[in-house]
Amino acid sequence: FSDSPDQLRKAIRDVPDFPKPGILFKDITPVLADPKLMQAAIDGMIAPFAGQQIDKVVGIDARGFIFGAMIAQKLGAGFIPVRKKGKLPWKTHGVDYSLEYGTNSVEIHQDALAPGDRVLLADDLLATGGTAGAALKLILDSGATLLGSTFFIELGFLEGRGKLPGGGPVHSLISF
Ligand code: AMP
Repeated sequence: FSDSPDQLRKAIRDVPDFPKPGILFKDITPVLADPKLMQAAIDGMIAPFAGQQIDKVVGIDARGFIFGAMIAQKLGAGFIPVRKKGKLPWKTHGVDYSLEYGTNSVEIHQDALAPGDRVLLADDLLATGGTAGAALKLILDSGATLLGSTFFIELGFLEGRGKLPGGGPVHSLISF
């Protein structure tokens, strides 16, 4: 699997002008559909955190659920969803973050994390970092220890990792 980063990169499909004009959408569904590629993606996302005790993996709505849950399973950790506002059924903590136009909110269950929990944050793609930055704030506010963040894809030119201060190392497997 030494050539897997190259295969993974080739499997990511560029979709221009989705969901709106000017956005080049990175479609990861061809990776999800291929078990060998998916295995390589998960292994690559975990590798820098090998040997660390991780209690919970926090995954972000919606594609972060797929990567996050598979990572959690592989690590023997629990999975915690961070969801868009209004989707979680129990009591929540929420945080607003700004988009290019307007704001968005994400939430976590109030009892999802406890002080002392050792947490890894996971999502499919780091773009501007607004979403992951909001999730980072929810994790840190809970008193849990954030060991780091892992992304399948990073759009490096958007400098999103600058929005993740104090959350440990930021790892991405494929960079554009
Ligand atoms: P951001 O908050 O700007 O870092 O955006 C991150 C979230 O939006 C991730 O959960 C991605 O799934 C999604 N996203 C942003 N830009 C793209 C893109 N070019 N292609 C695919 N997904 C994207």
